[in-house]
Amino acid sequence: MREARDLEPFARLLNTEWATGDHVQVGDRVAAVIQATAALPHPWVPWRAGEQFAALAAGQTFRYDIVKPQPQAQTPADLRKHGVAWIRLHASDQRGLAAQELDRFFRNPSRDRLRRCQQCTHWFIDMTRNKSAQRCQRKCTIAWSNAQRMKTRKRGSR
Ligand SMILES: [Zn+2]
Repeated sequence: MREARDLEPFARLLNTEWATGDHVQVGDRVAAVIQATAALPHPWVPWRAGEQFAALAAGQTFRYDIVKPQPQAQTPADLRKHGVAWIRLHASDQRGLAAQELDRFFRNPSRDRLRRCQQCTHWFIDMTRNKSAQRCQRKCTIAWSNAQRMKTRKRGSR
């Protein structure tokens, strides 16, 4: 389940940064890639998803830098002695960030656990054993079931 948890920052971006305002278009394009990716299981990336990914990443520049984390009380002596570098790759804008996140998504063995709620369209990580969750929370399942019942009733009354 660790790999599934690794999808959380990606889901958060989809639910916040890319859900409103200037970056909605990025969110929509990322959602389209995720949907296209579902056609084949990990580790395969379907051609259609690859094409959409390439369009999103086109012309982006990325820059590496290093960060020196502050030693903590529990930091081992050899790490203190040599100092530790965290390697980071920066995208130039939200489209670049989307490409980076999608690249990680493609490689994640649990990528099929990233779902969009049928009821509220929120992105969530399905942590059920049999990967069967379609709604993000109980509240949404109740609302969705009620809506289904209403539909059935309407159909029945005709
Ligand atoms: Zn929901």
